[in-house]
Amino acid sequence: MQGGREGSGPQYRAFGRSHLDRLEQLSGLSVEQKVALKAVSAVFPFKVNSYVLDRLIDWTDIPNDPIFQLTFPQAGMLEPADFGLLSDLVIRKEDERLLRMARKVQLYMNPHPAGQMDLNIPMIDGEYLPGAQHKYRETLLFFPSQGQTCHAYCTYCFRWAQFVGLDEFRFSSRETDTLFRYVEAHPELTDLLLTGGDPLIMSSRILRRYIEPLLGPSTEHLTTIRIGTKALGYWPHRFLTDPDADDLLRLFEAVRSSGRQIALMAHFSHPRELETPECREAMRRIQDAGAVIRCQAPLIRHVNDSASVWSSMWKEQVKLGAVPYYLFIERNTGPKHYFEVPLARALKIFSQAYAEVGGLARTVRGPSMSAAPGKVLIDGVTEVAGERVFVLKMIQGRDPQWVNQVFFAKFDPQAVWLDDLEPAFGEDQFFFERRMRAMRSGLWEPEWKIDTDHEQASA
Ligand SMILES: *Cc1c(COP(=O)(O)O)cnc(C)c1O
Ligand code: SF4
Repeated sequence: MQGGREGSGPQYRAFGRSHLDRLEQLSGLSVEQKVALKAVSAVFPFKVNSYVLDRLIDWTDIPNDPIFQLTFPQAGMLEPADFGLLSDLVIRKEDERLLRMARKVQLYMNPHPAGQMDLNIPMIDGEYLPGAQHKYRETLLFFPSQGQTCHAYCTYCFRWAQFVGLDEFRFSSRETDTLFRYVEAHPELTDLLLTGGDPLIMSSRILRRYIEPLLGPSTEHLTTIRIGTKALGYWPHRFLTDPDADDLLRLFEAVRSSGRQIALMAHFSHPRELETPECREAMRRIQDAGAVIRCQAPLIRHVNDSASVWSSMWKEQVKLGAVPYYLFIERNTGPKHYFEVPLARALKIFSQAYAEVGGLARTVRGPSMSAAPGKVLIDGVTEVAGERVFVLKMIQGRDPQWVNQVFFAKFDPQAVWLDDLEPAFGEDQFFFERRMRAMRSGLWEPEWKIDTDHEQASA
């Protein structure tokens, strides 16, 4: 690894709603635009930093600039009536009433995604492992409690209710020891996926506490450690000049030295994020430390809903040695109506972009919905026996037997999620529904869910 420049770069500083009047970059906004920002950011989380403000946003193209749309809450995220009321309170400077009203709006906009809690929490030695989900056999999802924020917030984030303190961080854990014991007891696991928030908000020292114990021989079956992060987009200094940037790269090297892979699951929403020299240098340093960068993001109206945005992003990623991985359909969050793209249109955008890139960029899969039964790919629209249908494919499943199964839904140009779809050909349910019901009522569970501590203890 090359010698670092730790401590020689800009210091990270976050700006939020209370800084709106003082941010120099916003001085060109109209009074209405500022009022709108104050009204909407009372409801949805808002956080940016100097890198996002100075290096990513094109201030000559406000409000259409995609990175402005990505990070600054927009009027359209609220119902017009709520927006009107909140704006009035901003103008009249009635702060207390504003915050009370904003809380009400938060409460009814919070979707509380169902099922996640009850179906996914793993157990070890008769204890729950909070902050973990073992939904798919090979991969354990883990949410370290110190990683439950990000270097800036995405307007479309489905975790917004947690960031504004509405939902507790139910999915978070500081249990490094339980994590280790769980992985040790589960030889079917090949992947650990650390996620958040953004785990790279944590210091390298704390991150090491989670990862290092997993590098020994008793967890040999664990071959890949993945870190889901948007730091390359929002704060590449994390890999360059932050005080513990070099420590992070040494941790990646330690994973490699143990014979394992380290993968950064990088969230890139727009090709602009890949253009800065800071991001490019960070990618190079990460790769020099032996980590693979795989890229994923949701398709979002106002941010990246065009084929050319995706094809240029994938081309650029391949050029920089990274691997395009997933294009997601945004899951149902409060302000979804502002961001949503119908499945049929998402497929068109994906297919057109896919056709514009070479084979090495076609490692990307999508459009994919992370739904309750699994990851469902919208693979095509076609006509079978006179009926227009979506061709769907389960690419990850709660039941491993579902994986790679193709199924069909009635074509519906307005549908935005799996819940909106109906089985084609007059069938009364999708192939996974019976088993999902059995799972919800506790009548069936995959074999890795069965707590094996008694066998372990006597072995
Ligand atoms: C997407 C996802 C994973 C990882 O799936 P891969 O297809 O291996 O990338 C793991 N757990 C959950 C809950 C997921 O949604
Ligand atoms: S980086 Fe991820 S977790 Fe953080 S705000 Fe964006 S979408 Fe949400």
